Amino acid sequence: MRLTRINKQILLGVLFITFLGMNSYAQSKQNFIIVIDPGHGGKDSGARGVVEDEKHIVLDVSMRLGKMIENKYKDVKVIYTRKTDVFLELWERTQIANKNHANLFVSIHCNSANNKSAYGTETFVMGLSRSQETMDVAKRENSVILLEDNQEKYQKFDANDPEAVIAFDIMFSAYKDQSLSFAKLVEDEFVKIGRSSRGVKQSNFHVLRTNASPAVLVELGFISNQDEGSFLGSEYGKQKATESLFTAFEKFKKEYDRKTMPEEEEKPKEVEKPVAGKTFKIQILVSKNKYGPSAEQLKGLTGVEVVQAGDVYKYYYGNTNMASERDELLAYTIRKGFKDAFVAEFINNEKLQGNQNYRIQFLASNKKYRDRDNKFGGLKNVLRVKKGNMNLYFYGSTKTYEEAQKDLKLAQDKGFKSAFIVTFNGEKLIEESPKK
Ligand SMILES: [Zn+2]
Repeated sequence: MRLTRINKQILLGVLFITFLGMNSYAQSKQNFIIVIDPGHGGKDSGARGVVEDEKHIVLDVSMRLGKMIENKYKDVKVIYTRKTDVFLELWERTQIANKNHANLFVSIHCNSANNKSAYGTETFVMGLSRSQETMDVAKRENSVILLEDNQEKYQKFDANDPEAVIAFDIMFSAYKDQSLSFAKLVEDEFVKIGRSSRGVKQSNFHVLRTNASPAVLVELGFISNQDEGSFLGSEYGKQKATESLFTAFEKFKKEYDRKTMPEEEEKPKEVEKPVAGKTFKIQILVSKNKYGPSAEQLKGLTGVEVVQAGDVYKYYYGNTNMASERDELLAYTIRKGFKDAFVAEFINNEKLQGNQNYRIQFLASNKKYRDRDNKFGGLKNVLRVKKGNMNLYFYGSTKTYEEAQKDLKLAQDKGFKSAFIVTFNGEKLIEESPKK
């Protein structure tokens, strides 16, 4: 197939985007990256062992560890700095961890000493060098380190010895806590299988760095020592050492997962429950005057309830048993211009005292109608009260406000839109305002 130059570019672009998509998919599945770094390799054999040299032992253990992790953890990506007997510069090892944004860097080594009786495991915590600058600092700080720390490793520091440089990197770890945590897990596991631990080694001084990984350098033991050298040179010893590293990894990963678990979803706000036994209304106005539903005094509010109590009319807006709605209603009426509005609290089904009762005034007329007059729209048992030269007509007689509201609704449905609730004492209108 012949492609024009443009088409080739488009094709490449599509392939590239496809690759990016696959890559991000893979990353979403594998959220933890461990870089396993078998020390030395190729022309660099590392420590000479009584059975096997360092570079072979650490490669073997590294590959075992990686496989164990891969088998159990589908969400972990294992990267090896080397999988074969090849030589790698230090910067190549760190670069592999850097560019993969490793969550953990484990450099695996074996010790040796002129003193053949030296033995035991030890784990160094370190900050993984991310830049030449950091390396330069490590070298430059060499003399200071020598003054501040007399550890064997530092005393024989050689900037050209990768192992020593990695060890020096300890000082620059921004992930010191995590590194220490993993280092301790490793040494603890070694102890559990009966190994002798020389402990976690760290430095006292600290330089901040901007990008690093939790990183450790594990010394599996002294292969210059007859016992440890034989152990680590054996199938059994390599497997046991690997299992210790694996168990330490499992614990580290578990803690990592715990910390990176998405915050528990915010609990849905508890569904607000009605305030038990109470009803809230906003009293917007008290007046000697009776205003109709469309009176300008009501400022456009609809559904305003009017209750006559004694010689005043109280105007209520809203009706809720929810505290939040009550507050909103109050704020709304104040915004509407009822500066003195306040919440009136009603106890549900509270009965009026003594002979008191609620009635619905639905009509006022100078005419005198008989009971069951067509004028009443079907309302029955209407009470007529003479007031001045007016006849006031009342419907219902109830002890609770809730019942009165039902009567009011009925009257309004019959067409008496301006009907309102009035308090009575028996069959007499209460003339005095109730004392507050
Ligand atoms: Zn080494």
